[in-house]
Amino acid sequence: MSNKAPIIIASGNNKKLTEFGQILASQAIELLPQSNFKIPEAIEDGLTFVENALIKARHASQLTQMPAIADDSGIEVDYLKGNPGIYSARFAADDATDQQNLEKLLNDLEPVSREKRTARYQCVIVYLRHWQDPTPIICQASWQGLILTKPVGDGGFGYDPIFYCPQAKKSAAQMSAQEKHALSHRGKALRLFAKAFNEQSR
Ligand code: IMP
Repeated sequence: MSNKAPIIIASGNNKKLTEFGQILASQAIELLPQSNFKIPEAIEDGLTFVENALIKARHASQLTQMPAIADDSGIEVDYLKGNPGIYSARFAADDATDQQNLEKLLNDLEPVSREKRTARYQCVIVYLRHWQDPTPIICQASWQGLILTKPVGDGGFGYDPIFYCPQAKKSAAQMSAQEKHALSHRGKALRLFAKAFNEQSR
């Protein structure tokens, strides 16, 4: 029998599931995708990353009666006053693909000079021990960068081919998974989560 703590991961995004698995690989946690339990996607009608992550984690925890973790994330572009932000997954349309969202962002920034193309990824992680948990673990982190004028690289997902990291001098899509996780919003937020989770289970 596994000594790992089973946790439902409240996401249907396979790329996110892969990143969670890689970042938390060394932890005593068994991540169980909500699709294994036939949990439908929750309606994300919050106005903040925190609210949406809480909605997703609570939905999965209530329907499975198990602990659940969720990630709500997105990209904030300064020239667009922080948009698409919480609407990053549906920037071009409600059912938009990653490619359509990326193209819309490139179009919206077409006239904008390099120094005004600043942006950051945001990630909020919410963990609930049970669906009515009054003290969820909530961790937040960001990743600062610039929006390129055309896609570069074929790794990652979402906006990664147009997200340039000045520190690494390459796009997020040009990084190995390990390089991305060392710098990324999700890597940093999940490491904060792992620390808090391990402290509370002592
Ligand atoms: P969510 O599933 O509602 O949290 O939507 C997150 C959206 O933000 C994704 O669909 C992507 O468009 C974008 N996003 C979040 N994190 C990343 C990342 O690490 N790389 C690229 N795009 C991301």
